[in-house]
Amino acid sequence: MEKTYHGSCHCGAVRFSADLDLSEGTSRCNCSVCAKARFWKSVVPAKEFQLLAGEDSLNEYRFGSGSIAHLFCRTCGVKPFGRGHLEELGGTFYAINVACLDDAAPEELASAPVTFEDGRNDAWDRAPKETGYL
Ligand SMILES: [Zn+2]
Repeated sequence: MEKTYHGSCHCGAVRFSADLDLSEGTSRCNCSVCAKARFWKSVVPAKEFQLLAGEDSLNEYRFGSGSIAHLFCRTCGVKPFGRGHLEELGGTFYAINVACLDDAAPEELASAPVTFEDGRNDAWDRAPKETGYL
């Protein structure tokens, strides 16, 4: 069921809300940045996302083609979401860090399906051979 969740970084400077359905799935990826950050995401179109506080606290990191803004709190370092633009995903999207949702119950998180992506090999449509460490 789609719900409005509220999330934040660790220190609370960055706060956001996002309308999403955890039972529709989440994903984990083995690309160079997701693997190191252990980023667990749910992707939503820009219209389902709202930044409530902390615009000035966000630092942006880009690498490779530079198409994705990896955003993190300059105080606590936590990465609450990233932002990108892909026509295939309907334009601007946000990749919400599911672990930063403050009002998602442990049961909801535990039962959210996880799709694995082989981002390390630019194969986002299939799972890598090893997923247990992601
Ligand atoms: Zn913070």
